[in-house]
Amino acid sequence: AGHKETLSFQTEVSQLLHLMIHALYSNKEIFLRELISNGADACDKLRFESLSDDALMEGEGELAIDVDYDPKARTVTVRDNGIGMSREEVIEHIGTIAKSGTKEFLSRLTGDQAKDAHLIGQFGVGFYSAFIVARRVELTTRRAGMGPEHGVRWVSEGTGEYSIETVEVARRGTEIVLHLKEGEDEFLDGYRLRSIITRYSDHIPLPIRMRALGEKGEPGEEWETVNRASALWTRPRSEITDDEYKAFYKHVAHDFEDPLAWTHNRVEGRQEYTTLLYIPKRPPFDLWDRDRRHGIKLYVRRVFIMDDAEQLMPAYLRFVRGVVDSNDLPLNISREILQSNRLIDGMRAGGVKKVLGLLEDMAKDRPEDYQAFWSAFGQVMKEGPAEDYGNREQIAGLLRFASTHTGEATQNVSLADYVSRMKDGQKAIYYITADSHAAAAHSPHLEVFRKHGVEVLLLSDRVDEWLVTHLTEFDGKPLKSVAKGALDLGELETEEEKQAAKAAEDESKEVIERLKKALGEKVEDVRVSHRLTDSPACIVLSEHDMALYMQQLLRQAGQ
Ligand code: ADP
Ligand code: MG
Repeated sequence: AGHKETLSFQTEVSQLLHLMIHALYSNKEIFLRELISNGADACDKLRFESLSDDALMEGEGELAIDVDYDPKARTVTVRDNGIGMSREEVIEHIGTIAKSGTKEFLSRLTGDQAKDAHLIGQFGVGFYSAFIVARRVELTTRRAGMGPEHGVRWVSEGTGEYSIETVEVARRGTEIVLHLKEGEDEFLDGYRLRSIITRYSDHIPLPIRMRALGEKGEPGEEWETVNRASALWTRPRSEITDDEYKAFYKHVAHDFEDPLAWTHNRVEGRQEYTTLLYIPKRPPFDLWDRDRRHGIKLYVRRVFIMDDAEQLMPAYLRFVRGVVDSNDLPLNISREILQSNRLIDGMRAGGVKKVLGLLEDMAKDRPEDYQAFWSAFGQVMKEGPAEDYGNREQIAGLLRFASTHTGEATQNVSLADYVSRMKDGQKAIYYITADSHAAAAHSPHLEVFRKHGVEVLLLSDRVDEWLVTHLTEFDGKPLKSVAKGALDLGELETEEEKQAAKAAEDESKEVIERLKKALGEKVEDVRVSHRLTDSPACIVLSEHDMALYMQQLLRQAGQ
């Protein structure tokens, strides 16, 4: 053994460990699911890397996860023959949390168990969940392709420090030994462990093995596979229970919570592939992070190819999780090939259609769930019309806005709702953009619309300016800003109103001239307004000016 050192966890890790152990205690058996899930990921990674470097398999090609226990030593062991880790990788992956938003996440923890458990689940605890039941965790690992002398042993009691040393490890992969805390002996039981595996990990497409039990329930010498070990998505829909779908989701999405919805399809014809796609309940912490991980897993004929295949889902659907399994792609496909491949494009277009269809169904049949979806991911969906021009009408149908009709800040009005309430003679869908809901709702530009009972959509998300430059019509009706250009309420104005307006203009000629002189270059024009009923004056942009808010944004960005 060589070069042993004791290192401190990153402060955030210590804090998280402490909070997590309490918050997740009522769910403690999930530690096994997390460790098995990591073992399965490690096997997937090895399989992928070995596609370009056969030697990594080291002649041991049957990938599996073994779960063992020792009632005398009071240990539970999870072992995989996957990719393993180098010393640097152990320090990087097990001693630090590299996720963005970690600080913010910790600051949101309240000490209220139920709330914190949700947040922690969303953040993902993975490996650290071992400390819920273990007083001491020993991880021994060797990276595939490195010599046995490059093994690593990592040991920690979860209290701020860990030791790490270089050791001989004959077999590639990772072994994790949990020394159970007092009172956790329930996990020293072969039946109990089997039932946890069946509940949470049955769908893992690799064998999970345990020692066969003897007559008195004691572990014997023979090993047997205790999970179903077949890829869930290859089975017919009618034979898969909701619980199985949910359990599989937690593995692919690295989520602790159930998904909101899913869609499972087999496509046949010119191209053959299967998709199983999920909508999560809550946004992950890295939704806005460019280096985010975890998206769609790509398989070819049930062999894992890669994680996070970005080419399979456009950015505005980046919250979608799941798998795509192709029958047609070559096994040795690389990330480069993915960039421009017509089969990939076909699967992507198919996947997008399925997701949009799923969301439409949800909006129709489960409006409350759809509202939850919208508050979680609406801002991301609003990138859709700009990114995915071909589907913009369908995406537009899924958008939700705040509106003067409801008077609430909640975004729950669809464009179709708006259109159904349009006045006779109203030609456009009106909206206003502002940098807060209150600013939009109290804008003087709304006065004349209120007077005529015309609904206006109140847009105040950052992405809204971007959205309205790309979504210019819906259902054949133009979207029009109430703050831009000449106002033409057309047939909504009565003859009397038009005459009154004309008279007001004539009367004000002198004032207008004086204002123009006084403001000089600062303005393009000064006009008598028909927009206002209570306020004396307001600023209006010409039709082609960028909205004020966009101008502010650009200034802030140093443009
Ligand atoms: P996640 O699985 O969401 O990435 P975890 O906390 O479960 O988060 O694991 C953190 C990281 O540690 C993994 O991404 C992986 O790089 C590494 N890791 C954990 N367990 C194993 C294992 N059995 N084999 C190889 N690497 C592992
Ligand atoms: Mg994990």
